[in-house]
Amino acid sequence: MSTLFNTYKRFPFEIISGEGVYLTDNHGKRYLDLTSGIGVCNLGYNVESLNQAVIQQLHRLWHTSNLYHSTLQEQVAAKLVKGKDQLVFFCNSGTEANEAAIKLARKYTGKHKLMAFHQSFHGRTMGALSITGNETIKSGFGRLLNDVDFIDYNEMSSLSAITSDYAAVFVEIIQGEGGVTLADTEWLIALEKQCQTQGVLLIVDEIQTGMGRTGKLFAHQHYGIQPDIITLAKGLANGLPCGAVIGKQKLGEAFQPGSHGSTFGGNPIAMAAANQVLDCLTPTLLEEVQHKAEWLFEKIEKELTALTMVKRVSGKGFMLGIQLANNVPVEEVLGKLHEKGILALSARGNTLRLLPPLIISKEELDKAITQIHQVLSAY
Ligand SMILES: *Cc1c(COP(=O)(O)O)cnc(C)c1O
Repeated sequence: MSTLFNTYKRFPFEIISGEGVYLTDNHGKRYLDLTSGIGVCNLGYNVESLNQAVIQQLHRLWHTSNLYHSTLQEQVAAKLVKGKDQLVFFCNSGTEANEAAIKLARKYTGKHKLMAFHQSFHGRTMGALSITGNETIKSGFGRLLNDVDFIDYNEMSSLSAITSDYAAVFVEIIQGEGGVTLADTEWLIALEKQCQTQGVLLIVDEIQTGMGRTGKLFAHQHYGIQPDIITLAKGLANGLPCGAVIGKQKLGEAFQPGSHGSTFGGNPIAMAAANQVLDCLTPTLLEEVQHKAEWLFEKIEKELTALTMVKRVSGKGFMLGIQLANNVPVEEVLGKLHEKGILALSARGNTLRLLPPLIISKEELDKAITQIHQVLSAY
């Protein structure tokens, strides 16, 4: 009998240690990890430079509060904005980053209506849940924020609904939980243009797509768009709780002392990790991710799409979805992959979702695809 609320459907084994791209469970079984702890441990497990940065800070100071100057927060913020006219607010999670973004957008614009997309996922607190386009995870909690509307993702004709009545539009560059759907380039550019002409803030939720996941620090950088606000979390501190809101400098007037805050946001331990994570995400590493990911996508298309049960391959970088036919339940596939020593994820629409650590090698990816092929072709 568990003493925990039953909020997660858990597999019956426990991961007790990790090294690089491998995890070991309580039975001593070793797994090749294609999950990164759901897009979090992008640099892998037990990373020496990250350990050192965190251990040093552990011995120096755990917490003081946001009443005092923070050199670490300034350093991490500077590495995130890289000289651009932007400001950063630190919090502890993705949902908190989106909550802060909602407040910032409403306060800055003086408007309250928000636009989001069907099948989006932005988090589970009441504000972030309100802009999430998935009824099944929203029902039963009473009235959420009203003033939120939803339109179709990747649909040009839906953009005209974004009028000057709205404070902001929230969008993911790849809808992750929603089934790994990648935004079309022209559509994303048209979305930015519509927001600009209507005076609506464009907020890009990079919580899953950011921190190198697609081979750039942020996925929107592939498209040359310039969001007003970017929200981050997951990979930011490689596993320590950490979130951030990056906003254009002009938005700064809306957030003054007392406007928003967080006791733990930007705490020294998480900042020490984030600071080191950003040093590890070098241009060379990001280029390697793009290179490996292109190779992987081709390999999946060549070897897996030939199988009758594979309906669609989608995504970008190391954020990939393999949609399976309904007679091949993805949860069952995950179990069979576990037996073969592979950890993977699922997403909406019977989709097998792969989020490998960015440091995974071609040889390891090759092995993983062979195993996935074996499991799928047995159906
Ligand atoms: C995971 C995720 C969130 C929520 O992050 P939490 O840290 O779980 O609150 C929000 N948006 C996207 C796109 C995500 O993938």
